[in-house]
Amino acid sequence: GKNDGKGQYRFFDPTLSSSLRARARLKHDLVDAIEHDQLVLHYQPRVDPRDGRLLSMEALLRWRHPAHGMVPPSEFIPLAEATGLIGRIGQVVIEKACAQVAAWRDAGIPVVPVSINVSARQFRRGAVPRQLAAALERHRLPAALLEVEITESAMMGDHDEILADLAALRAMGIKLHVDDFGTGYSSLSQLQRLKMDVLKVDRAFTAELGKSREGRVFFQAIVSMAHALGMGVVAEGVETREQLAILLELGCSEIQGYLVARPVDGAAMAGLMARRFLL
Ligand code: C2E
Ligand code: CA
Ligand code: CA
Ligand code: CA
Repeated sequence: GKNDGKGQYRFFDPTLSSSLRARARLKHDLVDAIEHDQLVLHYQPRVDPRDGRLLSMEALLRWRHPAHGMVPPSEFIPLAEATGLIGRIGQVVIEKACAQVAAWRDAGIPVVPVSINVSARQFRRGAVPRQLAAALERHRLPAALLEVEITESAMMGDHDEILADLAALRAMGIKLHVDDFGTGYSSLSQLQRLKMDVLKVDRAFTAELGKSREGRVFFQAIVSMAHALGMGVVAEGVETREQLAILLELGCSEIQGYLVARPVDGAAMAGLMARRFLL
């Protein structure tokens, strides 16, 4: 290294410089991905557990990388958040989700609401409500067809900007979902005060159903309290018939997970939309 021997720091530390180089390259590729339209949305249905009827769906981002194939969001969203690129990516997600719903509608397909994921870092001086309002207007869509998911942890703490934006979204008629509920430190009364519409219970809790009595008791408490407070409950990550049976008993109103369907691209989703799931 440059500081030979006595080194407080090393310019040529091979691991550090190669990870910095990898990050720089990933960031550069991500800018390319935005500019060359390599970001795509897949869609996963949410259904009524009683009859498998399609109620709504979630848009999930993927990067169709020219060399690495389909890259999952876990591999690029954290860097996008750290570098500020998440703002541009969020705008892409809003535009693509609205364009897709409009395309389904124009093809005569009966559409259901689509939720998009919004990171805490995207909330900046009203950008998200502004972008959403513009996209809805551009595609002549009612606000009721778009929903926003924000993680429980993003909502907590001293986040005045986020709370102001959530109020603006609510005023537009956009439903708000608390994502990964149960992993943070919020209370149901806080979430009700913020007028959140739906709790999406983290899939770690769904995984406990059928495994432990505590898992079921915990879930039951969430469902009954949420319903008493006028909030809906989505169980995420439902993978087995046993989990489905328990959720039916608990009166959970909406389920999502591989048991119903994996996320698929917009064309494949068009073929699924008239269908009954869970048959
Ligand atoms: P999330 O919002 O909690 O999304 C649910 C994740 O669980 C998705 O992973 C989905 O494919 C996966 N999943 C669905 N059903 C099952 C199941 O039955 N079993 C299991 N094991 N997994 C299931 P995905 O698509 O890889 O997304 C991961 C995370 O990336 C999302 O977690 C979300 O936090 C983030 N993300 C995805 N799309 C976007 C986006 O457009 N913007 C932002 N800011 N974040 C996004
Ligand atoms: Ca989500
Ligand atoms: Ca989630
Ligand atoms: Ca998650």
